Amino acid sequence: MKARGINRTFQKENNIKQIIQLLYRFDNCSRVSLAKEMNLTQAAMTKRINPLIESGLIEEVSLIDTGSGRKPKQLKLASNKFSIIAGRINRDYVIASAFTLRGELIHEISSTFDKDSQPEAVFETFKDMVCEVMRYTSSKILGIGVAVPGPFNVFTNTVTLISGFAGWNRVDIKAELESRFGLPVFLEQDANCGALAELWCRKDNRYNDIVYVTADRGVGSGLVVDGRVYHGHVGYAGEFGHMSINYDGPLCECGNHGCLELYCSTNALEKRYKELSGSDAIVKVPEIFRLVKEGDRIARDAYDEILKYLAFGCASIVNVMNPDVIIFADKITGGGEFFLSTMRRYLKQFLMSEIYTDLVIEVSRFAGDPTVLGASVNVLERMLETKFSDIIAD
Ligand SMILES: [Zn+2]
Repeated sequence: MKARGINRTFQKENNIKQIIQLLYRFDNCSRVSLAKEMNLTQAAMTKRINPLIESGLIEEVSLIDTGSGRKPKQLKLASNKFSIIAGRINRDYVIASAFTLRGELIHEISSTFDKDSQPEAVFETFKDMVCEVMRYTSSKILGIGVAVPGPFNVFTNTVTLISGFAGWNRVDIKAELESRFGLPVFLEQDANCGALAELWCRKDNRYNDIVYVTADRGVGSGLVVDGRVYHGHVGYAGEFGHMSINYDGPLCECGNHGCLELYCSTNALEKRYKELSGSDAIVKVPEIFRLVKEGDRIARDAYDEILKYLAFGCASIVNVMNPDVIIFADKITGGGEFFLSTMRRYLKQFLMSEIYTDLVIEVSRFAGDPTVLGASVNVLERMLETKFSDIIAD
């Protein structure tokens, strides 16, 4: 009996999550289109939709003109009853944002800091920024989501290591935020947040198996398997920046030798450009990308070499996972069309042809930072899965 009860609860929450996710993914949803998408009868769909409307999560709004017959009402997520606070902690900046339930940005602030800053001081600033963005919403705040760099242990909520920025393991981000704001707090690795944004927020998305690759000063990935972020046993899945491609290679901060990110981060690009150009000073990445776009041979050679390593690492994940799509994000994509054409060329070289043929290769198309949006979606997903009664409670 108990098992059946759990199954029913899970099924109910799963249905609610699926409805909310479909409303994120597709415009012009109606009871009829949702029933069709979820393979439910219209009566069964009405039974699920009505409590969501009563709770204020969903609104039934304007009419869709289908051209003939009865016009169904359009279902949308409520615009002003709930909001979500989300943020990002990165190696040299922090962001705090407020979003509507629909994922629309209400307000965002960011702050940069230098590499000598202590995590405790940065976190104090971050908490003040969260406090500040909260002032921009008068609706019920569901929770706070924070994107953090990996490796991140999702079960103990511990940031194990931010390469180049030690000491974050001393800060209990979740406990301190919950204590100060009295709201549920959900942390997630930044690349997983990016993957969640792609899964939930890009319109007309039908991809459920996604490899989302971020490469800047560090390299990581978020893996979506069958519509869910894949965490692995302790949450380190997707840490492919620390996958060694050379056991005799240089020592990495993680203790291993020859980690992929030593070869294809933006640091590696700056270093390689310096070597090839013979310049005395480090030329920063934005300048290298400007040169790449102008057709500068040395900049293109350095970038090409770094991307070859990145593609080599990606090929291993893609061969293992066989995803629908691989999406690249973050600063390494800054070379524009040269980036995409080079990655396609090397992925074609390194992948099995049957896998390459059906693989969609893209650069993330979000205008803002998809990681923060994903941190907000993570709050919604986790609340729908585990604390739905808290959402609808007054
Ligand atoms: Zn490493």
